[in-house]
Amino acid sequence: MKLKSFLFAGMLMLGVAGLNAQQIIAHRGFWKTDGSAQNSIAALMKADSIRVFGSEVDVWLSSDGVPVVNHDAGVTLNGAKLIIEDTPLATLRNVKLANGETLPTFEEYLDAFAQCEHVKLIIELKMHKAKERENLMAKQVIDMVQQRGLQERVEYISFGINFVQQLRKLDPQAPVYYLNGDLSPQVLASMGLNGFDYHYNVLYQRPEWVEKAHKLGQKVNVWTVNKPEDIQKVIDLKVDFITTDEPLLVREILRKQ
Ligand code: MG
Repeated sequence: MKLKSFLFAGMLMLGVAGLNAQQIIAHRGFWKTDGSAQNSIAALMKADSIRVFGSEVDVWLSSDGVPVVNHDAGVTLNGAKLIIEDTPLATLRNVKLANGETLPTFEEYLDAFAQCEHVKLIIELKMHKAKERENLMAKQVIDMVQQRGLQERVEYISFGINFVQQLRKLDPQAPVYYLNGDLSPQVLASMGLNGFDYHYNVLYQRPEWVEKAHKLGQKVNVWTVNKPEDIQKVIDLKVDFITTDEPLLVREILRKQ
């Protein structure tokens, strides 16, 4: 009987530990696997299939005002470098990702996401040259999400103060996190943001920001954590989310805690 009680208590403790464990976000989807590529629809579906908390994606606006998915500001087409925000969609559609997929529009990406069963979509809005174009893109992205009823399944991140302010204004309920590492939890609270998503070096310099954020009811995400020693460090810092190119490695390390 005693042994049974002991085992039961142990299971409860494991359960509690499990509840408090960090959530994993696949950076640009789960792309380090066969048939995948960064920011491809395949990477989103593969992130869903391994049941991580979230799959991150980067969004730019084409010169003719269509949100498209890519990380870098530029793409290469037939050996020439093209800047996405200066290039029309029709040209961008000739770009192939490393897995052979056509560079996706954000709308296509969202339609694929609507079929996912497990992941949230963590949408990064990339900073543009002109504020007006950023505002146009923020409005379009929010509208596309709302038209599909996906508000509860997405979160937003950006390095741009203008973007996080626009997103907050356009959807007061949306989870919005700031990426640039330079603002304290108190300042983010005054902006009505839900927390920060900073590079791990920022947290190594300011570990107290995690607790400060939690006291303000904020969540803490950290990028892009790929090495075992850094993964362990950010777990010990008690962040809420770990954004990584190595989602299976992070899961393995979390299971050993
Ligand atoms: Mg990103």
